[in-house]
Amino acid sequence: MTGEVLHQNGALLRAVRADITTLQVDAIVNAANSSLLGGGGVDGAIHRAAGPELVHECRLLGGCKTGEAKATKAYRLPAKCIIHTVGPVWRGGGNDEAALLASCYRRAIGIAATRELASIAFPAIRTGIYGYPPALAANVALTTVREALLAAPGIREVVFCCFSAADLALYEAELIKR
Ligand code: ADP
Repeated sequence: MTGEVLHQNGALLRAVRADITTLQVDAIVNAANSSLLGGGGVDGAIHRAAGPELVHECRLLGGCKTGEAKATKAYRLPAKCIIHTVGPVWRGGGNDEAALLASCYRRAIGIAATRELASIAFPAIRTGIYGYPPALAANVALTTVREALLAAPGIREVVFCCFSAADLALYEAELIKR
């Protein structure tokens, strides 16, 4: 099952249940850690699927701060580019977590727009081992992407790539909120 709506600028916003490494989009976003040298979860899956050249390029980037994003090539993936972003560790919600998570989505959209990429797929950043509550994270994701797209008219499609049926249901609910 998938959910989709049109953004006011005409871009398609879609929620799908998939492995992000299989998606045919211009950019996929990696929920990386600050070293950018790989890890578990979606980060590990992306590094495995892209191949060992990815970590070589990542080593040259000198890490990434929380709320920021850096791009690399996508190597063996069908995407053209990987945008690595580091979300906040959930520490109860009173430590700027929402602003930092929003910054991840905004920076990733900004990089895609600068590189004139037309489609981008996001995983549910920080909702795995780092514990950001999935419903709150989905709300931050949709709210931030909708706002960022107003300044990025070249982006025609944003895919919210969910790994679980429960996450897909959350994103479908967010997509139909106005
Ligand atoms: P984080 O460090 O951001 O918490 P995780 O990888 O632990 O990263 O989890 C982020 C989200 O990505 C979780 O919802 C997890 O289920 C999901 N995920 C894990 N593997 C994949 C994959 N191959 N494609 C898409 N999403 C994935």
